[in-house]
Amino acid sequence: MTMHLDFDRCHLWHPYTSMADPLPVYPVKSASGVLIELEDGRQLIDGMSSWWAAIHGYNHPALNRAVTEQLGRMSHVMFGGLTHQPAIELGRLLVGLLPAPLDRVFFCDSGSVSVEVAIKMALQYWQAAGRAEKKRLLTVRSGYHGDTFMAMSVCDPVTGMHSLFSGALPEQLFAEAPSCGFREPWREEAISEMRELLETHASAIAAVIIEPVVQGAGGMRFYNPVYLRRLRELCDEHEVLLIFDEIATGFGRTGKLFAMEHAGVTPDILCLGKALTGGYMTLAATVATSHVADTISAGNPGVFMHGPTFMANPLACAVAVASLNLLLSGDWRASVRRIERQLAEGLAPCAATPGVRDVRTLGAISVVELDRPVDMAKIQQAFVERGVWVRPFGRLVYLMPPFIIGEDETRTLTSAVCEVLEMSADSAPPNPDGAHI
Ligand SMILES: *Cc1c(COP(=O)(O)O)cnc(C)c1O
Repeated sequence: MTMHLDFDRCHLWHPYTSMADPLPVYPVKSASGVLIELEDGRQLIDGMSSWWAAIHGYNHPALNRAVTEQLGRMSHVMFGGLTHQPAIELGRLLVGLLPAPLDRVFFCDSGSVSVEVAIKMALQYWQAAGRAEKKRLLTVRSGYHGDTFMAMSVCDPVTGMHSLFSGALPEQLFAEAPSCGFREPWREEAISEMRELLETHASAIAAVIIEPVVQGAGGMRFYNPVYLRRLRELCDEHEVLLIFDEIATGFGRTGKLFAMEHAGVTPDILCLGKALTGGYMTLAATVATSHVADTISAGNPGVFMHGPTFMANPLACAVAVASLNLLLSGDWRASVRRIERQLAEGLAPCAATPGVRDVRTLGAISVVELDRPVDMAKIQQAFVERGVWVRPFGRLVYLMPPFIIGEDETRTLTSAVCEVLEMSADSAPPNPDGAHI
């Protein structure tokens, strides 16, 4: 194993990691249900769902069956000029679940690509409508939409490190992050900068893009859904398209099937990904209203200009169909409600730990926000020693376990977070300024 780890260390990039001095990585032998088993035999309770994706846990018999059955028919065929049952069935399921006007589905490879596709749709829409000058994007700070270039351009300028790519990155417009918390009474000022930017720049703006209700990797913030109702009105008033990025929030994570349901608002274009395949493989979808699709199709060149090689990959579509059927046939609402209650109760003691700024929970997502970045090398090891897989970033320690997690396992997760934060508070030097990410 040491030899393999040496190879990994010398030759394999990991996410957001140095090739010269990477932190240790833990080799995984297998994963099943809510447990990740390491090569050395240790078992870790998964608190991350492999970044929002593995909602049913790992190695699920129904999802395994869907993949192997599809593998026996074909793993892939091109989607240009051909189609297949897994894509049609998945499209039918999504169109049935989404609000009525969202019914034109574009399958693509990953979340970032689905964001590129959504933005391209918005640009082609305005070109077809004879208003090609509308090509800028407006968004809010603290957002995260992926790592490809156009997606990066609408990520938070600071945490998204825009300075690193200045000159190469398109410059977009940013309003302050929605400042009114999910459970706070709505305050109209929370959207005033967004309103002003729309009033001033609408003639140059193609679309507003935003993560509904939960801002994920850009800061793990939960905001008041009224923001989205106002935003929908403003976009209509100023003739700007509205794109919702539900890549992290889709498929039950916030307690609703889609986070936009908290607001009762429908966008013109919607991005889905992550949990779409239950975490089995990469697949995403960009869903547009028929109005957007028809306008693009009536323009010049009359086609939407995108077509990934692995578009609508049959294996991925088949497992996505199985994952959705599994979700819809079970009582995920009750599971997410139970997890929400347990996470909130289990992490409540952290609020009193020195260095903790805020503890918040929504659906099966819980966040402990600290006043300074964690010491990753130490904290990662401390979690593994306690038998849990928790992967903090910056000042945020968060849990978003698979929906199948049991009560005892949830308690183990929350106790581990409380203990590890207590331990780091004891060993950390005081830092009254509160360093940032
Ligand atoms: C993860 C994420 C993306 C990017 O998806 P990838 O599959 O990693 O490309 C985009 N938007 C949101 C909200 C995400 O959480």
